[in-house]
Amino acid sequence: MSTKKQGFSTKAIHAGQQPDPSYGSLSTPIYQTSTFVFKDVAQGAARFSGDEEGYIYTRLGNPTQTALEEKMAVLEGGEAAAAFASGMAAVTAVLLAMLSKGDHVVHTSALYGCTYAFLHELAPRFGISATSIDTSDLQAVDRAMQPNTKVVYLESPANPTMKLCDIAAIAEIARSRGAKVVVDNTFMTPYFQQPLALGADVVVHSATKYIGGHGDVIAGLAVGEKEFIDEVKMTTLKDIGGTISPFNAWLLLRGLKTLPVRMERHDSNGRAVTEFLEQHPAVDKVYYPGLESCEQYQLAMRQMSGFGGILAFELKEGYEAGVRMMNKVKLCHLAVSLGDVDTLIQHPASMTHSVVPEDERVRAFITPGLVRLAVGLEDVEDIIADLEQAMS
Ligand SMILES: *Cc1c(COP(=O)(O)O)cnc(C)c1O
Repeated sequence: MSTKKQGFSTKAIHAGQQPDPSYGSLSTPIYQTSTFVFKDVAQGAARFSGDEEGYIYTRLGNPTQTALEEKMAVLEGGEAAAAFASGMAAVTAVLLAMLSKGDHVVHTSALYGCTYAFLHELAPRFGISATSIDTSDLQAVDRAMQPNTKVVYLESPANPTMKLCDIAAIAEIARSRGAKVVVDNTFMTPYFQQPLALGADVVVHSATKYIGGHGDVIAGLAVGEKEFIDEVKMTTLKDIGGTISPFNAWLLLRGLKTLPVRMERHDSNGRAVTEFLEQHPAVDKVYYPGLESCEQYQLAMRQMSGFGGILAFELKEGYEAGVRMMNKVKLCHLAVSLGDVDTLIQHPASMTHSVVPEDERVRAFITPGLVRLAVGLEDVEDIIADLEQAMS
């Protein structure tokens, strides 16, 4: 049956997977092998030349990885996908496949910390430069484009301020200047936002977060046109080697089956916690894209179908109050990461964004008193009760 007409949840369960031909195993087997045996020399030669489809060596492909990649391509609405050992392996493999010495990148200022470090510390050693801007301002995007700009790299919502950027409008600006658009869709997942349909060229994910969903795996994914994904697989994935393990690919296959129900619950819990925080006297400001009071609400309604469980807030008494609160939570865990079944709380200025220079942090609204909450799947009354006692 063609997956085109099926709903998202049906695709999340069925796409890329069939009962295993060997024994009819319903769950896709974990092909825990490094290499694959050829019948004879002719078959080995045909696999290497590409005349015959089939596996050679797990760094180049493995049936459990393939099932995951096929499922993810369908869910993001792309032609093909590649799986990686981590989100950063996906981000760097995609960027290095697109960029050469002398090229320039324009990116969202409040980027994931390691992506920022890659673009501003490692990539410059290879002659690649980057400009950090507020991508919610379309004129700023336009102004930042240079003749050598090859990639516009976006996070929307941005981490941790939840600021959005207009992916469709930026894709148009980039296309008119001959640049490609890459979107890190970790926060929304394809369930709530599909950047390829909005005009982006490539989507990357830290699958460690909502896609795995249970806080037990580090993994990454990239989705785009088959020609580009094949190029990544044959260059920056094959030769740098950030291959996903078969077991981790299987964990993501399992995670994706429940992505829609988990995202619905993250979303309703996120909204309820936001409402609680907004009316709390100790809270100065809440950042959550689903707030109707938010100036970007119209954009949010246009490019997303939900808002998920990630939010940030400022306590009126700033840094000290934030530290006191984080040390007092009992149910919520003081930990970085997000997208887990467990609620996680963290402090961007001293943790995830500590590598971003302070002036850059201030420009991106990552103030010393900002607290980030990744709302999990517990009963929301219990999450709220824990936050309440921690703020009292
Ligand atoms: C966690 C994260 C990454 C990095 O992913 P890893 O799986 O930790 O390598 C990249 N982008 C965003 C938005 C993230 O949250």
